[in-house]
Amino acid sequence: MTLADLQQLERRAVMGTYLRQPVEFVRGEGTRLYDDAGDEYLDFLAGISVVQIGHCHPDLVRAVSDQAARLMHVSNLFYTAPAFELAARLSDGGLGGKAFLCNSGTEAIEAALKLARRHRAGGGFVVMEGGFHGRTMGALSATPQEAKQAPFAPLVPGFRAVPRDDGAALADAVGPDTAAVLVEPIQGEGGIHPLSAETLRAAREACDRHGALLIFDEIQCGMGRTGDLWAWQGLGVRPDVMTVAKGLGGGLPIGACLTTPEVADTLRPGDHGSTFAGGPVIAAGANAVLDVVDDPAFLAAVAEKGERLAAGLEGLGLAVRGRGLMLGFACDDGPGLAGRLLADHRLVVNATGPDTIRLLPPLTVSAAEIDDAVARIGAAL
Ligand SMILES: *Cc1c(COP(=O)(O)O)cnc(C)c1O
Repeated sequence: MTLADLQQLERRAVMGTYLRQPVEFVRGEGTRLYDDAGDEYLDFLAGISVVQIGHCHPDLVRAVSDQAARLMHVSNLFYTAPAFELAARLSDGGLGGKAFLCNSGTEAIEAALKLARRHRAGGGFVVMEGGFHGRTMGALSATPQEAKQAPFAPLVPGFRAVPRDDGAALADAVGPDTAAVLVEPIQGEGGIHPLSAETLRAAREACDRHGALLIFDEIQCGMGRTGDLWAWQGLGVRPDVMTVAKGLGGGLPIGACLTTPEVADTLRPGDHGSTFAGGPVIAAGANAVLDVVDDPAFLAAVAEKGERLAAGLEGLGLAVRGRGLMLGFACDDGPGLAGRLLADHRLVVNATGPDTIRLLPPLTVSAAEIDDAVARIGAAL
């Protein structure tokens, strides 16, 4: 089917929730994507920080194919090994408690919100302006953006937003009726804004003072993206609960809500569930992604490559924000520049709002590909 065929089908049969770029991709390999005409693109978006170890990594393809040929689904009424292995690895390499597996980022947030409510019945949530936590009603209620929320009012009550990166305002908002503070250590959809260590420490102290849970949304900044397996490990502030998704499946849909040992048994039988969650194929895929990413040498290389990309962009005179391979830079017309990079320079990036270009390449990107991407951005400017 041609792009024109797909666009016609879209008009007829696909709900108009997305504004798509006019490109049909048919194949991917590593950091490269190929369109229906065979043209090659450099992918510095990775499906929004999902294709963490590159397109069609042979280890991931093998793990998924083997498992798909053996057993695809039996539900959580029974035991299957890949999900249990995955839960143990996520817990041991994360907060040391337990994992609830689910199918997406927004579901990981819903699990975290329910866990916090179970921990403090009736408690409220403190969230941050510019934050993004997902599109289901609970996660949307935690996402204080007028344009995303307003059409769907009334939202879930009990959420209070404080200004971005203002530790004092955050501490003021937390009290004995707070169930949890929910923040992204680095805001992603909001435009790549790292929170300061002081703000994160203020959040930790406020939660400790009032017995509230500190939830870090690491759906975008986790899974090695910053050069640490989890962003909080590089920030020195440990949350009680962490949400993970995007890069965890390397391209397959999966999410997880992870806890410390202290709150690991908060949710009880019957409190929460999901038919598809922890399916053997997806879990086998996530284990294969972790095999690659959860390795000190690999993570050190991510940090190094992030510095190379940031230095290259700064060399173009750009104001760069972010950490590791989660970077953004300010520009006048983000959507225009992203469109030109795609159409004229075959570089896939994305604009978060009008004035930021976001770069989230696969963590397996090479130094040469980074230099190539910087050159393409330089040419487009
Ligand atoms: C993408 C994202 C979500 C939502 O994940 P979905 O899989 O789209 O539901 C939540 N939080 C953050 C930080 C994200 O980047």
